This record gives sequence, C-alpha cells and structure tokens, in this order.
Amino acid sequence: MAEDPRDWEVETRLVRGGLARSPHGEISEALYLTQSFAYENAQAADDRFGGGPGFIYQRFGNPTTQMFEDRLALLEGAELCRATASGMSAVHVSLMGLVKAGEHIVAGRALFGSCRWILSEWMPRFGVEVTYVDATDLEAWKNAVRPNTRAFLVESPANPLLEVTAIGAVAEIAHAAGAKLIVDNVFATPIFQKPLVLGADIVVYSATKHIDGQGRVLGGAILGSAELMTAAYKDILRHTGPAMSPFNSWVLVKALETLELRVRRQTDNAGRVADTIASSGKVRQTIFCGRPDHPQAAIIANQMTGGGNVIAFDLGSRAAAWRFLDALQIVDISNNLGDAKSMATHPCTTTHRSMPEAERLEIGLTEGWVRMSVGLEGPGDLARDVSRALDAA
Ligand SMILES: *Cc1c(COP(=O)(O)O)cnc(C)c1O
Repeated sequence: MAEDPRDWEVETRLVRGGLARSPHGEISEALYLTQSFAYENAQAADDRFGGGPGFIYQRFGNPTTQMFEDRLALLEGAELCRATASGMSAVHVSLMGLVKAGEHIVAGRALFGSCRWILSEWMPRFGVEVTYVDATDLEAWKNAVRPNTRAFLVESPANPLLEVTAIGAVAEIAHAAGAKLIVDNVFATPIFQKPLVLGADIVVYSATKHIDGQGRVLGGAILGSAELMTAAYKDILRHTGPAMSPFNSWVLVKALETLELRVRRQTDNAGRVADTIASSGKVRQTIFCGRPDHPQAAIIANQMTGGGNVIAFDLGSRAAAWRFLDALQIVDISNNLGDAKSMATHPCTTTHRSMPEAERLEIGLTEGWVRMSVGLEGPGDLARDVSRALDAA
C-alpha cells in the first residue's frame, strides 16, 4: 500500500509533503518560473478550462506554488491551502471573501497594524461594519454579534503584547451566530497551534515571518476546508490577482523543510532570554507565552504546544526602551519577527505608531514596551547582549 502523507510525522510532512517531481526526478523541488502552460491539443485546453486537472495560468496556480500549498496544508491538517503574495493579501482576501455590503465583522482589538487599517479604513468603503472587542473577553464577543455578522477575526497570540484568545470558545460563539472564525496564526506558528482543530474555519499566515525565517521574501497563505475555500476564495483569488510568485514559492517550500527545527530552537532561546529579562529586576513586566506568569497561561496550556519566539517587556518609559535598543550589539533594531536573526522594536514609535493613543492604551501598550523576536544565535551571546542592554536602560 502506498504511504498516506497524512499519516506522516510533522518532520516528514515538512521535508516530503507536496513533493511533485518532474520526469527528471530532481531531489530538490523544481522552480517552475512560467506564466502560462501549453496544451497537447485543443481538447486538452478545453478540458483544463472546463475545470479538469492541470495548470492554466500563474495567477490561477503554478506547480512550485502548489508544492508549497500542499506542504503547508499537510502541516496544518487543512484540506486546502492557497498561497498569496503577502500576509496582508491573505488577511484581506480571507475577509473580503466572506462579507458583502451591509454585513458585519467582529475583530479582536489587538491586531497587526495593516489588519486594523483594512477593518477601520477599507471595509467601511464597501459598507461593511466592524466592531472591535477585547479578544480575551468571551462576553464581549457574544455582545458584539449582530444578525448580519459574517466573520470573526482574531490574532492569537496578538501583536505586540501577546494576548491569547480561547480559540475554541470564540469559534462556538461565531458558529452560533452563523459567522466564520478566521485566526491569524503567525505568532503561534503552525508548529505550536492548530486553529482548525480548535474549531476555527480559516487560518491565515504571513509566510514572511517564521516560514521564510531567513529574511528573504514576502508570502502569505489561507487554509481551511476545501468546501469553504472554494466557495469563498476561488474566484477572488483568480480574478483579483494576489498570487504568490513561483520564485517566492520555491524559497518558501524549501524553508518549510527546516521550519520545525528553527522554530523549536528559537523558542528554546526565547525561553532563556525571557527568564534573563524577567529575573533582571529591571523591567515592570515580562510577557512570554512559554512562562507560567503569562496572563492567559491556562488557555495557552490548552491550545498551544510551545511558547513561540516573541517576548514583550516593559521598561517603564520611552527613554529606557530606547536606551535598551541602542545598547544592543548583536540583536538588531527591526520590526520583523520570526527571523534567524534576533531583533527588537519599540512598538509605540514603529509598528503601532499609527494607532491612536487612546486605542494603544486600551490594549495596554504604553511607551516603555519593547517587543523582541528571538532568533538562532547562541544563547550565551544573546543573554550577554540583552543583559548589557538592560543595564544600559
Ligand atoms: C507580518 C504580519 C502580517 C502581514 O504579513 P506581510 O507578509 O507583512 O504582509 C499579518 N499578521 C501578522 C500577525 C503579522 O505579524
């Protein structure tokens, strides 16, 4: 009997899932840098346009992109994955495919900045209304529901203070309201959290983060059941054109091979750095999903199998936060995350600067907070760099 890839262990899925070899039998996944495809005869063209198997045009699909999609779907345990040019195109399409004018979205209020822009500035142009809630408050989700609510969107853990939402409980509220739950799973990574198993309908990723993990390309992905993915997203993906480039797909399918190794090592490093920071006596609060003092530690224990690689800590003032950043010699000052290189940022003046102060205060984001994404450097070097910067702060 042929092996069923769905029975494979995670590591095997990441190295071999979705592999579709050409007649040459190449070991490394092929890069099909082609926009279009030729048909053997007129009947074959008719068959493919009629919905039969095979590729037609890069905007609709590409063999390299499909290897990335199939591998990520296998990792996530999703029936279908569609890759997009960036994480933001994945979030945008995931919402646009579910709502129309006169309908309503409920979203957790701590969201990546561009997701907030789509909800606050873009959706209203098309007559779609949005209510923000404290994503940790189940009553707030329930109370926000209206008869025309079609989608819930939540990021868990959320940027930048790593708030965690009980995904299963929120999925139940969404489904009781006849709405779909979309989870932005970037911070947890597909290694540590499976939103579809917890009850979510759709998972989105910025593959730019841990999936690339080496600072090279943008990418995104939408995953879910074949039925919902086809009904909600097939046409919008074909006709509005957010397709992932085959080159980026190739970079990302190769990156998946090492995702599990990288994320686990990053998480081990992050645990040590978080302990160094928390025990330094120099911060007001340290938030890390792998520590028992995380405000939602009980929920984390139920739905995540690892803490991830992002830490947030409060140095009390902007001046102290900036002194910390400026004293770092190994860790970069940068707003990206999930990279092999450790990086730290001051959210108030970078990633969250366009968020009105009142809203920042609502999510607890005051000027002393620093967010750090821990990479793959040696743990001793990271501890020394961070300790020196804490002394300087
Ligand atoms: C980075 C990020 C995005 C956007 O992804 P891009 O690839 O930069 O477009 C969306 N959500 C979260 C949580 C992110 O961290």
